[in-house]
Amino acid sequence: MIKNFAELDLDPNLLSAIEEMGFKRPTQVQAQAIPQALDGRDILASAPTGTGKTAAFVLPALQYLQDFPRRKPGPARVLILTPTRELAMQVADQARALAKNTKLNIFTITGGVQYQEHADILATTQDIVVATPGRLMEYIKAERFDCRAIEWLVLDEADRMLDMGFGPTVDHLSQECRWRKQTLLFSATLEGKGVEGFTADLLKDPADIDAEPSRSERKKITQWYHRADNAEHKLALLKKIITEQAERSIVFLKTRERLADLRTELEKAQIPCAWIQGEMPQDRRNNAIARFRDGTVNVLLATDVAARGIDLPDVSHVINYDMPRSADVYLHRIGRTARAGKKGNAISIVEAHDQQMMDRVARYVKEDIKERFIKEMRPTHKKPVFKKKKKDDKKKSTTKAKKKPSKKK
Ligand code: ADP
Ligand code: MG
Repeated sequence: MIKNFAELDLDPNLLSAIEEMGFKRPTQVQAQAIPQALDGRDILASAPTGTGKTAAFVLPALQYLQDFPRRKPGPARVLILTPTRELAMQVADQARALAKNTKLNIFTITGGVQYQEHADILATTQDIVVATPGRLMEYIKAERFDCRAIEWLVLDEADRMLDMGFGPTVDHLSQECRWRKQTLLFSATLEGKGVEGFTADLLKDPADIDAEPSRSERKKITQWYHRADNAEHKLALLKKIITEQAERSIVFLKTRERLADLRTELEKAQIPCAWIQGEMPQDRRNNAIARFRDGTVNVLLATDVAARGIDLPDVSHVINYDMPRSADVYLHRIGRTARAGKKGNAISIVEAHDQQMMDRVARYVKEDIKERFIKEMRPTHKKPVFKKKKKDDKKKSTTKAKKKPSKKK
């Protein structure tokens, strides 16, 4: 097993950029994917959020471009598809940082950018283009972009692209890039629709990489929960946590209505926050993220739809103000903290009806998530207990667990 970047076949100019970025050693997914990609294999990789998937495809792509330098100016040779504009910009930023000691050019093609800007870009030589599928398709149809020179096709957050309905567009783009040599697919999970949502010939005999993060990559998130008696109690707990315990938190809510309500409450309490939600105008979302990123505000409210795929650095706390709809989404959420060697905290604030999901999550992440209390804010209701179902975990007709009658103290 590879332990150091130096053991990977990377040029010194990439190694020095890696060092400058402060990466000490490759993450699991990087250690596994980079050699295979450099060997010319297609890649099908899954690894949890925050485990360095970006560099796992950017580094071999940069190495490939240096191993086989272009002879004359021309169009892009590596195409990276991402589900969202934010993610495209983040991937491009990281690629530029890693390519800083090379002469390689990296561009983005996404919605929300003036046509004119792109037009200038497309007249120049590009090595790597990071694009969102919909916008790129428009460009191809308008004959403003040509995939014939693409040698590597990379799909980042493939699960998310499928969720967003980009399956057919990606297949179409795959057709457009049919002269490519290699295809790399990265995803947080291969569950759900998995890659079956894409055509079978997208990947050719891929190296299958399912990177279990190492202990040191994973064991840094302290998870616990607080029980709340009702909505007011829940809000009081949250205010206490975000003002007194957490440095920077992202607070997850299940709907935009719930988000709007919480925003109003925090405003009343004069706790500054930024917020993102699905279908928000791009500039407002960027603005919110920028305010959070630069520390103008230390609380970001988000729905799952809005937050997926966005890299938010240095989040000390992830707070589940609403429990997610599945344990898998829980993992996605808490992956926002403890990034890249830092420690993190994941707190769930649960009401009685959330207890079952809390238990399910604990089983899923295979950890004992403990209850904690805040002085003077202890819950008064008794913790509901659910019978553990043995083996047969499928929903039976008697799904509704019987709640024990709660005694008031
Ligand atoms: P993913 O795509 O798996 O969610 P990212 O590629 O966005 O994860 O990486 C998450 C964070 O970890 C980024 O801030 C990135 O700069 C950092 N990172 C990536 N690789 C390493 C490494 N080998 N060592 C330290 N930090 C890393
Ligand atoms: Mg990623």
